[in-house]
Amino acid sequence: MKPFAYVRAGSVTEALTAHGGRPGSRYLGGGTNLVDLMKLGVERPETLVDLTRLPLDDVEETADGGLRIGSGVRNSDLAAHPLVRTRYPAVTQALLAGASGQLRNIATTGGNLLQRTRCAYFQDPAKPCNKREPGTGCGARDGIHRDHAVLGHSAHCIATHPSDLAVALAALDAHVELQGPGGIRTVPVTGLHRLPDAEPQRDTVVAPGEILTAVLLPPETAGLPSRYRKARDRASYAFALASAAAVLDTDGGRVRHVALAFGGLAHRPWRATTAEELLLGTEPTEDAVRRAVDAELARAEPLRDNAFKVPLARNLARDLLNALAAGPRT
Ligand code: SF4
Repeated sequence: MKPFAYVRAGSVTEALTAHGGRPGSRYLGGGTNLVDLMKLGVERPETLVDLTRLPLDDVEETADGGLRIGSGVRNSDLAAHPLVRTRYPAVTQALLAGASGQLRNIATTGGNLLQRTRCAYFQDPAKPCNKREPGTGCGARDGIHRDHAVLGHSAHCIATHPSDLAVALAALDAHVELQGPGGIRTVPVTGLHRLPDAEPQRDTVVAPGEILTAVLLPPETAGLPSRYRKARDRASYAFALASAAAVLDTDGGRVRHVALAFGGLAHRPWRATTAEELLLGTEPTEDAVRRAVDAELARAEPLRDNAFKVPLARNLARDLLNALAAGPRT
């Protein structure tokens, strides 16, 4: 075990100073991912800055009718929050589809969004992995990659992003607030995570030392019908083989607002903009939904062992959109 310094920050400013943007510094939330990676020897921090005592554990209604969710809010608390359950049901459904009750009790909102891939090669320091150690190669590409990406992957990395919550937030047009030494900025959740390209070691656009302080859910999608569905290998808990979050609202029988995002298919939540463009303003018949989802997934590039993900994702998305188009369950 490599010794490390531990700092319990009392304020965001204190946390930023303790971290200092140094490569060996890490922020600690619930620890459900980082501590595992430390035990595996994948993460070997010099300084851990504990954020769990910061005043970032509230869900507040904003003046414009949206929600501001502190990044320290535990996954269980967020899933159960009445305003989340009623206004953004896909968020609750995504959280409850992720992890176990015990993990949700400790895992934080910010940590959930910033968790690392569960690619087995990334988690084993004895294996080649461009994400863990740039330039060593990608063990998964010609190895075990049944769980890996079918969209947006590169020659350097084929990993998927594991968060369910991020997929629902992407469909609901949420933003995140990032605070760094230079001030505060907001980034759409759809732009938070990167595709791997030639730099798979960079999961997100978060700058060194920045803290994800809040998630902002907008008033525009509050109360719109939304749902999340996930396919996984076992019922107890597992990461998504494929998942989908959808928001669909109609006016006069035509689609007034639609959003579709996939999980388990790419290095980031995959917002299905082609499908959305095809559906917007149309009558959401089963045929229209099928054509839109097929057009989106036509760009998939499955690997040797994960072609099954394409029809799986197609069926999840079609089921979700058709159910939303049919209206509330009676
Ligand atoms: Fe590493 Fe990405 Fe390849 Fe997995 S898929 S071994 S994370 S480079």
